[in-house]
Parts: sequence; C-alpha cells; structure tokens
Amino acid sequence: VLYNQVQDLKGTIRVYCRVRPFLPGQSSGQSTIDYIGENGNIMVANPFKQGKDARKMFLFNKVFGPKVSQEQIYIDTQPLIRSVLDGFNVCIFAYGQTGSGKTYTMSGPDLTTEETWGVNYRALRDLFQLSKTKVDFIKYEVGVQMIEIYNEQVRDFQFDLVPVTVVVLIGGDFLHTEVIYSFVWNIINQFNEFLSMLPTCCSVLTVHVLGKELVTGSILKGCLHLVDLAGSERVDKSEAVGERLKEAQHINRSLSALGDVISALAQKSTHIPYRNSKLTQVLQDSLGGQAKTLMFVHVNPETNAVGETISTLKFAERVS
Ligand code: ADP
Ligand code: MG
Repeated sequence: VLYNQVQDLKGTIRVYCRVRPFLPGQSSGQSTIDYIGENGNIMVANPFKQGKDARKMFLFNKVFGPKVSQEQIYIDTQPLIRSVLDGFNVCIFAYGQTGSGKTYTMSGPDLTTEETWGVNYRALRDLFQLSKTKVDFIKYEVGVQMIEIYNEQVRDFQFDLVPVTVVVLIGGDFLHTEVIYSFVWNIINQFNEFLSMLPTCCSVLTVHVLGKELVTGSILKGCLHLVDLAGSERVDKSEAVGERLKEAQHINRSLSALGDVISALAQKSTHIPYRNSKLTQVLQDSLGGQAKTLMFVHVNPETNAVGETISTLKFAERVS
C-alpha cells in the first residue's frame, strides 16, 4: 500500500461542508453563517426566527469558509483519491440546493485556468500522474465512464455520446501517457459542456483503475465516482406542475434514497436499501463495505436561502 494515507477511513463516511461566497453583483446583505469553527462547527443564524430557534449549530468533519480555494479543497480530498490506486472504491458527492456551488466544487467555473479547477480535473490529473510513477512494479489500466441520471433514467455515455471507456496501459508501449491524458480530458470537456445544459440531472464521472503487480501477479481494482447531484431544493408542490413536478419528485426520491443508504451504512444497519433509486443501484458496489465515502454539502449564505440551508445541513447531519 503506497498511496493510502487514510487506511482508517475504510468504510467510513465523511462530510465536508463548503460555504460559497456572495457573488459579485449580488446584494451582499448579511450572511446566514454566523460562525465557522476550526473543528468542523458551523452556526447558522436565521433572521426570520426569534429566540432559541434563531441560531443552530451543526458539526461535520470539516467546514470550509467562503475564502477557501479550490486547491485547498483538493488537498483535503487527495488522500482519498489516491487510495483508489491501492484498490479502494471511493465515492465523492456534491450535495446542495441549486446555485450553492456543487458544480464549482466538482468541475470548477473555468477550465482554462488551472487554479480554478475543481475536484474532477485535479483527481484525474493526479491519478494519471501517480499511476505513471508506479509503472516499474505495477501496470495500471485506467478507464473513464460517464453516466447521467435524469427522472430515474440512466444514460450511459459509454454508448451514447462518444465511446468513452478507454482502457489503456499506462506506461505501455503503444500509447503515450500524454496522449491518454488529453484524450480523457477531451471526453470530460464534452461531458461538461453537455451537462451545463441540464442542471437538474445528476452526473456520475467514474474512473476505473486496474493495477497488476508485476512480481506477484496480484490485481488491484479500485474506482472513483465523482457525483454532482441534482439540486436538493424542495419544490413547492402546489406550484410545480407537469414535467417540472415529475422532475422534482424524482429528484426528491433519489436524494432521500441516497440519504437512507448512507445513514444505514453509518449506523451499520444490516439492511441497506440500495434498490430504492437508480443512483444507489449504480453505486451499490462502491457504497459500504471497504469503500470510502465523502460528501461535500454546499451552503449558499444568502438570507433568502436560509430555509434550504438548514434543511441541507440537517440532511448532512443525518448521513454523518
Ligand atoms: P450548483 O452547481 O450547486 O447549482 P454552481 O456551482 O453552478 O452551483 O454555483 C453557482 C454560482 O456560484 C456560479 O456562478 C459559481 O461560479 C459561483 N460559485 C460557487 N461556489 C463558489 C466559490 N466557492 N467561489 C466563487 N464562486 C462560487
Ligand atoms: Mg450545478
């Protein structure tokens, strides 16, 4: 085991909370986040409530404030990602209401500046670079797969958009690593362009890693799932109609199914309800057992978002 600095996290669920800044041009107003502690505490102030209901404290593994950079977010995520090369399955989720920063964390706002790259790009870069360095005694094959889930229908880009499952021997003679890197890069770019048009779907980017130890012949098989979930906002049932209502119901059902699975795992329950949504079915092998799970919960600090902020943090507290 070379890269796994987080052995202790096997089978555990971590929750990181990220508060996004006020956006330029937004009437800044008062932030609903009153306090962020060093040890994962976050205090929400609800200006519409009085007395003891006006402030509520939550506790997570980590809380990142609005000034925390993409790089810093990644540094705290990197050990988990690297453990995929040691044969672990890892799921990283971005949860939060629409506009709270899920896509910012996972993909980033602008691919042309490396500084703003999100977790997806940094993870891929890392996995490709690291798998190259171990080539003397382990040969790696890396494959990328992308899935989109919308209204409980799974669309697998492997067959749909471009033939995206590329299994190549890193360090092999027939394909240079840089070529592979830019190839995968292209695929992800296409995927992201496509996704930006469908903000209400859930996207899963999966990197499969297969390592063969050359001396012993043993096999290491790991995968990393990077999941940008659909917005968690509760839609007012009296206002949504038709397609919009159907969409909202599907999203609510799949997010609560995910919450049920993760909290059943956290409580070491004997029955884990994987079958209740497409997302949990797709990820079944990577949730629970030896797998590692990280959820980023995103907070929009604006006053008018406070209701969603509190329900987001309650959801996250339930799964942690
Ligand atoms: P979501 O995917 O949850 O709907 P986005 O990631 O699209 O939300 O973020 C909404 C807006 O806020 C975007 O304009 C994004 O660039 C901006 N944003 C989100 N998080 C941050 C952050 N940490 N720093 C700066 N801008 C951010
Ligand atoms: Mg988004």
